[in-house]
Amino acid sequence: MPPVALVTGSSRGIGRGIAYCLAEAGYDIVINYTSNREAAEEAARGVESRGQTAKICQANVARNEDGKRLVDQTIEAFDRLDLLVNNAGIAPRVRADILEAGPEIYDEVLATNLKGPYFLTQHAANQMIILKDQGTVETPRIVVISSISAYTASPSRGEYCISKAGLSMLTRLFAVRLAEHNIPVNEIQPGIIQTDMTGSVKEKYDKLIAEGLTPIQRWGQPQDIGKAVTALALGYFDFTTGAAIPVDGGFHLHWL
Ligand code: NAP
Repeated sequence: MPPVALVTGSSRGIGRGIAYCLAEAGYDIVINYTSNREAAEEAARGVESRGQTAKICQANVARNEDGKRLVDQTIEAFDRLDLLVNNAGIAPRVRADILEAGPEIYDEVLATNLKGPYFLTQHAANQMIILKDQGTVETPRIVVISSISAYTASPSRGEYCISKAGLSMLTRLFAVRLAEHNIPVNEIQPGIIQTDMTGSVKEKYDKLIAEGLTPIQRWGQPQDIGKAVTALALGYFDFTTGAAIPVDGGFHLHWL
């Protein structure tokens, strides 16, 4: 049976890029979305055109019961779960200075980007331990998609930065706890990636990239992240856990 990956938020953008790269590497995929069914169906067709099986599952990762159902439906459908990719995330609907931003958007961003993924990962990890003990899956793995915002302070979207910094600790916590079960947990920190999320700030970043914001002077593409996830998924980094891997055109470097 092919290995199975659950990729949250895989109907569009980076998640879709991850799903396609994993499908090319032989993974069957659970495509998850929250509101845009049409995009999810297109992503599923993309997986199938790469020769793999796709199952679509609507779930809002901000809701703990949805996250649990997503994991359970994956295992019901495929009898296994080899890889969880925590990718779904949102930017704040309104960018507001941290001296003014209110608690509603903070709660929404933290629930979607951190609290939901925390409990989804907890449930997936417990299921992976069972699947491993049964001999169904040899090496389950978990990948967390955080951001350069995990360590870059942007005072006009403090909630987002805090949520991503929290994901770095989520990665380390589960990496330590799951090491005895041989379940590697690693984090990928994407830089500036061309998706719907960055559509509204495209001109700003076009200019910043042209001025040298990143040593590699281009936008990242969803498949840049997909390739990195696939390298982890194929087991080439199985002695690595709790690592934060930048996929950012060199954004994280300080240089002279
Ligand atoms: P995007 O283009 O806005 O796509 C977001 C995806 O997540 C969609 O498939 C969306 O489904 C799904 N989603 C949103 N909220 C969800 C929820 N509550 N439950 C389940 N699915 C949900 O975003 P993206 O740029 O691909 O970003 C993906 C991840 O990478 C996010 O965690 C983001 O923070 C991170 N990231 C992005 C960048 C960048 O430059 N783009 C950089 C660093 C990190 P629907 O269409 O149904 O809403």
